[in-house]
Amino acid sequence: MENNKPNHFIHDIIDADLKAKKYASKVHTRFPPEPNGYLHIGHAKSICLNFGIADKYKGTCNLRFDDTNPLKESDEYVQSIIADVEWLGYDIKNNILYASDYFDIFYEHAITLIKAGKAYVDDQSAELIKSTRGSLSAPGINSPFRDRAIEENLTLFKNMKSGQYANGEKVLRAKIDMSSPNLNMRDPIMYRIIHANHHRTGDKWCIYPMYDWAHGLEDSIEGITHSICTLEFEDHRPLYDWYLSQLKVHHPQQIEFARLDLDYTVMSKRKLKELVDNKHVDGWSDPRMPTISGLRNRGYSPDAIKMFCEKIGVAKRNNIIEYALLEYCVREDLNKKAMRVMAVLDPIKLIIDNYPDDTSEDLIADNNPENENDGTRLIPFSKELWIEKSDFMEDAPKKYFRLSPGKEVRLKHAYYVTCTKVVKDDTGRVIAIHCNYDPNSKGGWTDDGRKVRGTLHWVSVKHAVNAEVRLYDRLFTVDKPLDTKKHNNFIDTINPNSLHIIQNCKVEPSLNMIDFKQYYQFLRTGYFCFDSQSNAEKLIFNRTSTLRDSWKNP
Ligand code: ATP
Ligand code: MG
Repeated sequence: MENNKPNHFIHDIIDADLKAKKYASKVHTRFPPEPNGYLHIGHAKSICLNFGIADKYKGTCNLRFDDTNPLKESDEYVQSIIADVEWLGYDIKNNILYASDYFDIFYEHAITLIKAGKAYVDDQSAELIKSTRGSLSAPGINSPFRDRAIEENLTLFKNMKSGQYANGEKVLRAKIDMSSPNLNMRDPIMYRIIHANHHRTGDKWCIYPMYDWAHGLEDSIEGITHSICTLEFEDHRPLYDWYLSQLKVHHPQQIEFARLDLDYTVMSKRKLKELVDNKHVDGWSDPRMPTISGLRNRGYSPDAIKMFCEKIGVAKRNNIIEYALLEYCVREDLNKKAMRVMAVLDPIKLIIDNYPDDTSEDLIADNNPENENDGTRLIPFSKELWIEKSDFMEDAPKKYFRLSPGKEVRLKHAYYVTCTKVVKDDTGRVIAIHCNYDPNSKGGWTDDGRKVRGTLHWVSVKHAVNAEVRLYDRLFTVDKPLDTKKHNNFIDTINPNSLHIIQNCKVEPSLNMIDFKQYYQFLRTGYFCFDSQSNAEKLIFNRTSTLRDSWKNP
């Protein structure tokens, strides 16, 4: 199946490499998250790309944790990332790797570079190093420690490792070129001192490698062939190449692609963490979050996310994708998968005067008209039903096809009913509607050619189950929350009405069985799923999406 999908430029590069028998005709990719937050939909693009390539070329893709900064990382994040990648459907059991397992190897390679006169210990502070790096128009300034003797560098670096210095007191730098036009090549820092407990290596290390130094080595150690990363690393590629060629080790090809950017949301883990830490949302998996776990809790399917990643494609140029495309994909997918059920979100009572008092009957309902294999179920029908308040209007205009006095409508899977009268309270508010049903219209049709245009969903009062329903809107009110020209802080653009909770909704009794894996369509109101907080005492549903794009057609 994979092979029918259109090729993109990375496939072209790999095809050419395979033809040239580069890397012994193997394809080995990796997805390398830093465990400093939960994964978001942007990561899904990278996951689908890297695991998709491994599938297409019958190669391998590693899930590798780039866990090189103990200050920001944790095991909670590691576990959430594993769960998310598995949920997306990728088999990673045997391919979970950790950069922290290579710390000894990195250290040995650093010693090699020092011995070759290609790295030195610098006593300058990080701020000073930054300020002497120069600019695009001015060269950097050599550190006064740049020409330390190799022996001295070896001793000082070993002392760094053995914990003799405080944080920030020394760094190890590569000795490249302080006047390189590429700022990344101006003696970049390889190691810094951080006295902190690492979630996997504990207190074994107090020096930690910088991203550029570690990343190429991680790829090299794992025998990666194509190291795919986002465009902002294009300027880092010369450094990636420099380290690996100095060390004469296996040298993967770094390839950059455009990162996913979506409107009406933010996607950097740092920003998402701010939303979580300051309680603007209910944790990383809040259904409004663009995290994979948030989308899962919202009721997105892995297939919908994969469809989205396929539609956006892989290219070299950054652009902003409409959130509406993600919603389109979930509707497309859930239309095929969702079990159709009836739930009344804003109930009013409908009483069928000519239906027997103490009877109820089970009516047959198809579970999914898009897929016969999903079968049918029985739903109970009785004299008193809940229908939506918005499905009744006392003084209805001509084109109103729902219920109003004297009008006939179809109750889905049930009968035709004609409204006879309404009951009002003292204030004149309608509190119940009366009707008569036609016993000959069972199943919701007759063969007498009668035209009944409106079809309503309903739930039998005595069989109904109470539920809480959570309706969501976008988390931000503007398409570019991070546009600092328009607003000081993205927090100011949070939508105060992004969550609307409705209590005492009435759902059909089949929903009493909590099934977190099932996707539902509540007829006429949208796609829904059980919220992860649901339990036997309290059913909670999240609306995944409306049935149509309510943003385009409000
Ligand atoms: P963030 O800025 O959100 O923290 P990151 O790039 O720092 O993201 P990493 O954990 O380092 O996060 O990312 C792991 C992989 O996912 C990297 O290869 C990275 O390029 C890729 N990735 C991250 N964000 C996106 C995105 N928006 N679109 C595509 N790929 C992404
Ligand atoms: Mg990062």
